[in-house]
Amino acid sequence: MDKSGIIKPVLDASYPMISHGKGIYLYDTDGKRYIDGSSGAITANIGHGVEEIADAMEKQAKQIAFVYRSHFTSAPAERLANKLASLAPGNLNWTFFVNSGSEATETALKVAIQYFQEQGIRTKTKIISRWTSYHGITLGALSMSGHALRRERFSALLEDFPAVAAPYCYHCPLKKTYPGCGLACGNDLERAIQEIGAENIAAFIFEPIVGAAGGAVTPPPGYYEKIKEICDRHNILTIADEVMTGMGRTGKMFAVEHWGIEPDIMTLGKGMSAGYTPMAATMVSDRIINVIRKGSKIVMSGHTFSANPLSAAVCGEVIDYMEKHELVRNAEEQGKKLMASLQDLQKKYPIIGEVRGKGLLCGLELVSDLPTRVPFSATHRVGETLISLCFKNGLVIYPAFGGVTGFEGDSVLISPPLTITSFQIYEMLRILEESMEELMNGLVSAGIL
Ligand code: PMP
Repeated sequence: MDKSGIIKPVLDASYPMISHGKGIYLYDTDGKRYIDGSSGAITANIGHGVEEIADAMEKQAKQIAFVYRSHFTSAPAERLANKLASLAPGNLNWTFFVNSGSEATETALKVAIQYFQEQGIRTKTKIISRWTSYHGITLGALSMSGHALRRERFSALLEDFPAVAAPYCYHCPLKKTYPGCGLACGNDLERAIQEIGAENIAAFIFEPIVGAAGGAVTPPPGYYEKIKEICDRHNILTIADEVMTGMGRTGKMFAVEHWGIEPDIMTLGKGMSAGYTPMAATMVSDRIINVIRKGSKIVMSGHTFSANPLSAAVCGEVIDYMEKHELVRNAEEQGKKLMASLQDLQKKYPIIGEVRGKGLLCGLELVSDLPTRVPFSATHRVGETLISLCFKNGLVIYPAFGGVTGFEGDSVLISPPLTITSFQIYEMLRILEESMEELMNGLVSAGIL
């Protein structure tokens, strides 16, 4: 055993050593090629090894890499903030830069509470979230996340924030069926507000499409319109967590555009830098900034590396690259093809219970019994096995299980870079199919199926 080293996700497990990447492909030091079918953690949106980004990085690093945000502003950070404001829906015109999605969630929480405090409303301090959600790993963000597995060890330290039913029709937590349910999951928010008191609630946070906790769980029509109406009526802010869904991933620049809703706060991460640098953001509407401007004038948050010019230049270049290559449109078009191919695969393999998502954020949920939607027992590790088989066969996909409370589940995310071509989708599907075949054979010979 080594006497020192990096703490790996699973201690003492062996991980291949990466050599380099180009486009959707990754190569390890043994020369094995992988298709990055999940863009890492749904991050490498423009693909790997893009020269323009490396050039922008070099240029900025030579000019000025770091200044502290209380001392100087910089052209790359100003330009990026203005660009994001021009792209974002509604009046989300103000950006607070941070370094990770978790920090973006923490900042959203603080800004929401501050908005009410500046107006002398000191009781509005709770944030409602949904069961089956993930907003980050830090304690504030975990308090707002309905991710059972990631909360488990730290439950004693987490804030007692309320959570409501997720719009998860395939396994409705309220045991109802759409549309006869009358959007009961939306009504569950109203119930929680009545129970806790609107005077105690600052905001409601949601991932427009649930990613890591559920595998591209997509709400039914009408859900977000209902949520927005309820929140507005009770003077509760809406926080859209677009860390995973934002920056073109779902075939629109931001996933909220699918429902035409305008949140008060929006968080970004992952695809914003496409993995070329750690950077994330919390975008805030005019309404909130105007209140803070009239009050203390200070958003009480910040990190050493916030808004550093190097990362800002990289993110600016990522957006330019996306626009130049029309990657949002490509995500929409190729997403339709990927979804259709996954639906074909579903017809062949009865353990694929549901194929869901939008654009290039696609989820597969595996079940042991198709008619009853009963999941596999967690002890059988079916989702993990599929992921390992794909990896062995040269395809990286992403786990999205452990988030659901009340039952075990095996969902995976298939979310390749937004640059993917039709041929590459075909290549990816061949490996997925080969891996599904091996999985089925293994389940049958183990007597699980
Ligand atoms: N929000 C969402 C929706 C996410 O998917 C993630 C990361 N999976 C986060 C927040 C946290 O981001 P980070 O890992 O960069 O802290």
